[in-house]
Amino acid sequence: ITRRMASSVTKVDYLVIGGGSGGIASARRATEFGVSAVLIEHGPLGGTCVNVGCVPKKVMFNTAMHAEMIHDHKDYGFNLGGGVTFDWSVIKQKRDAYIKRLNGIYATNLDKAKVNTVHGHARFTGESDPHPIVEVGDKKFTAPHILIATGGYPVIPSNDEIPGASHGITSDGFFELEDLPKKTVVVGAGYIAVELAGILNALGSETRLVIRRHQALRAFDSMISENVTHEITSSGITLDRFSHVKKVVKDSTTGKMTITIDSTQDGTTTSTVVENVECLIWAIGRKPNTDMNLDKVGVKLDNRGNIVVDKFQNTNIEGVHAVGDVQGKALLTPVAIAAGRRLAHRLFDGKTDLFLDYTNIPTVVFSHPPIGTIGYTEAEAKKLHGDDKIKTYKAMFTPMYHAVTERKTKVAMKLVCLLPTEQVIGLHMQGLGCDEMLQGFGVAVKMGATKAQFDECIAIHPTSSEELVTMR
Ligand SMILES: Cc1cc2nc3c(=O)[nH]c(=O)nc-3n(C[C@H](O)[C@H](O)[C@H](O)COP(=O)(O)OP(=O)(O)OC[C@H]3O[C@@H](n4cnc5c(N)ncnc54)[C@H](O)[C@@H]3O)c2cc1C
Repeated sequence: ITRRMASSVTKVDYLVIGGGSGGIASARRATEFGVSAVLIEHGPLGGTCVNVGCVPKKVMFNTAMHAEMIHDHKDYGFNLGGGVTFDWSVIKQKRDAYIKRLNGIYATNLDKAKVNTVHGHARFTGESDPHPIVEVGDKKFTAPHILIATGGYPVIPSNDEIPGASHGITSDGFFELEDLPKKTVVVGAGYIAVELAGILNALGSETRLVIRRHQALRAFDSMISENVTHEITSSGITLDRFSHVKKVVKDSTTGKMTITIDSTQDGTTTSTVVENVECLIWAIGRKPNTDMNLDKVGVKLDNRGNIVVDKFQNTNIEGVHAVGDVQGKALLTPVAIAAGRRLAHRLFDGKTDLFLDYTNIPTVVFSHPPIGTIGYTEAEAKKLHGDDKIKTYKAMFTPMYHAVTERKTKVAMKLVCLLPTEQVIGLHMQGLGCDEMLQGFGVAVKMGATKAQFDECIAIHPTSSEELVTMR
């Protein structure tokens, strides 16, 4: 029940700031327990994932999969005849329409759940009544439980750091492109850089990837970083290792950019000048959205600006909680959703001990081919338990799909096992189908399955996943 006080501060049971993955999931779950909830969102509903993240990205990954398979059609006996054309605007329009439908579905679901959605930018006023007051335009709200689920945004270097940097776009801008750029430079070595470069390259943009060190995805198991880096170059992307963008100059008449890339190896720096670049994408990291006067309530941030929370998603201020990207850990939609739902159960459903376990979170990178990984990397496991306590199993093979094709990609797999039981504490793979393969194996790893238990499950033949239960 919404109680409007004389002070014109609307008091509810649960006030959620941010209508993305975490905020929507938490607010909807909370109202199932009979509490009143207000959700404040300043942009389209669904947040990063729906509008400029997972969803449009996966549509473009699927588009790129078509482009890749076209290369294999002739080997499977298909003759596509007079050349294949690709019209970016077709998939862009369909993708935008799909997202618009999703925005509508989110609004309807919030209405059905009796979550009161307020449109606008939320910020703390610094007053309390008795809980912190949040204002949106001329409206004021407060609640004994306030959830900050405001996500993050992609970073662009300043023009002082890199002259001309602002001519580049981010992943947000990638989803606004009205046409396929003929020539693209992507900067970054994380999963978003790898995914966007892979999509653009597969669709026919002449693509360069600029990475600071020698491999992409360096936080992943070494087998994955090595393999993905190999697949990046063998797919036709030009990889600039040990490199950074020195300057960007845009021709005001053609709109094209000339980008100087410096590469430093063994103490020697060489410069490469890349001309006629139509699109420069910065994918160098994300920062939390904390522009809401948090200092007025004293919510603690870490040195990277993320909101600090304990395992129950509590900030240092009583009654103020945070989930999802804004707390800087495991930046993934299902993580934000799970943390948000658990929090709702803990606060309003009497499940006072419930929290999200951040270990063994399965993660997929939609690279070409895709990567699936869960648990410890080999290096992490050895550091934690000692080299002699870790046994690994590895496989590298050409999947049967490529038995008849000229174009090849590999499957690389690794199990990281803890001795003496050989519990599987890490599973890492890259190859066709690995994106869909991981979820089931994730259950097994989360349950603490051992290598022997993996092997007890009869293989499914002929698949690539059978390798995971037959490794020796
Ligand atoms: C290109 C890209 C690809 C991705 N791909 C995947 C993927 O394949 N799988 C996956 O699991 N994850 C993926 N992610 C990550 C995923 O999108 C995020 O982890 C997830 O959206 C985080 O949810 P959240 O609720 O924390 O924040 P968000 O979903 O970002 O929601 C936060 C919301 O808060 C709003 N907001 C912010 N400040 C205020 C304010 N002061 N007042 C009102 N509203 C405010 C924002 O407008 C936004 O809608 C991807 C991200 C990107 C950028």
